[in-house]
Amino acid sequence: RDKMRKRIESGDHWFSLEFFPPRTASGAVNLISRKVTDCFTCLAYRFDRMGSGGPLFIDITWHPAGDPGSDKETSSMMIASTAVNYCGLESILHLTCCNQSKEKITAYLNKAKHLGLKNIMALRGDPVGSEWEDEEGGFNYAIDLVKHIRSEFDDYFDICVAGYPTGHPEAETYEADILHLKEKVDAGADFVISQLFFRADTFLKFVNDCRAIGIKCPIVPGVFPVQGYQSLRQLAKLSKLEVPEEITRVIEPIKDNDAAIRNFGIHQAVEMCRLLLDSGIVPGLHFYTLNREVATMEVLRQLGLWNEDPRRPLPWAMSAHPKRKV
Ligand code: FAD
Repeated sequence: RDKMRKRIESGDHWFSLEFFPPRTASGAVNLISRKVTDCFTCLAYRFDRMGSGGPLFIDITWHPAGDPGSDKETSSMMIASTAVNYCGLESILHLTCCNQSKEKITAYLNKAKHLGLKNIMALRGDPVGSEWEDEEGGFNYAIDLVKHIRSEFDDYFDICVAGYPTGHPEAETYEADILHLKEKVDAGADFVISQLFFRADTFLKFVNDCRAIGIKCPIVPGVFPVQGYQSLRQLAKLSKLEVPEEITRVIEPIKDNDAAIRNFGIHQAVEMCRLLLDSGIVPGLHFYTLNREVATMEVLRQLGLWNEDPRRPLPWAMSAHPKRKV
C-alpha cells in the first residue's frame, strides 16, 4: 500500500468526502430514503453510492468527548471500520485528544489498528467545560497527539492535521497559528486538510503563507457547498467564520427556498473549485458533505471529477470498487 501522501501528490486531481457518525440508529436510517435494517447497512448504502464516484478517501469525524453518541455502536470508529472493511473505501478516522488520558488515546489507536484503519486525523478538539487548563505532559494541543502517535506507533498511521485559512479562532494571530501548524507538520504530520472557507483567494494566500515559512507537505482545501440557510448559519457559528457579504446578499432573499439555495451553493462551489484547481497548487478537493449527497455529487459532476462509470479505472482509485449489492 502506498502511503496516503504519495497518492495525494500523484498529480491527478482527486476528491475526498467527510461524513459524521449518525447520533442514533434511527437518525442513520433517516439519512437515506430506502428502508434498511440497521445503521451500518444504511451508511454502507450511502458509502457505496458515494464510493462509486471514486473518492480518494472518506473521513469520519470524531464525536467530542461527552457526546451521547460517542460510545454507541454508531461511533466514529465503527463507522470508519464499516467503510473500510465492508465498502472497501480508504478511510481517515478523526481523533480528538483534549480531555483524554494517554491510556484512553492509546486504546483507541490500538483498536483502530486492529480494525484495519491506517489513517488518523489528529486533532485537539474543543475542550468540554470552562475549567480545562493546560496540563503538564497531557494532550494540550494536536501536536501532542501527533507526537504520541509517532512515538507509540512509529509510521504505521498516516497522520493528517487541521489548518485554518483565516487562522484558528483562539490563535493570538494568524501568523502564530500557521507557525503552530508548521510545528504539527514537523512533529510528523503527513498532510493538512483545511477548515472551510468561502473564497478561493483566502485558501491560495494561506498556502503561500504556509510555503513561505517552510511547510512543504500537501495542503488540501476543505470545500463546503452551501446546502441550506440554517445549516450554513450553524456551521459558520460552530467554526466561528463570517459568511461574506456577497453570499449573504444572495441567500437572504431566498432563505425559505431550499432548492434555490442549494443551486446557488452548487454554482458557487463549482466556481471556487475551478479557481482552486486552475491555480496548480491544489492537489485535490475535500468536501464537507454534512452526510448529504446531492450538492456534493453535482459539484463533482460539473467539475468532471465524479466517476460516472464505476467500471472505469481511475488513476487514484485505490478505493474505487465495482458496484455490488450490500
Ligand atoms: P491545535 O492545532 O492544537 O490548535 C488549537 C489552538 O491552539 C490554535 O489556536 C493554535 O494556534 C493554538 N496552538 C497550537 N499549538 C500551540 C502552542 N504550542 N502554544 C500556544 N498555542 C498553540 N472537532 C471535533 O470535535 N471532531 C472532529 O472530527 C473534527 N474534525 C475537524 C476537521 C477539520 C479539517 C478541522 C479544520 C476541524 C475539525 N474539528 C473537529 C474542530 C477542531 O477540533 C477545533 O477547531 C479545535 O478548536 C482545534 O483543533 P486543532 O487540532 O486544530 O488544534
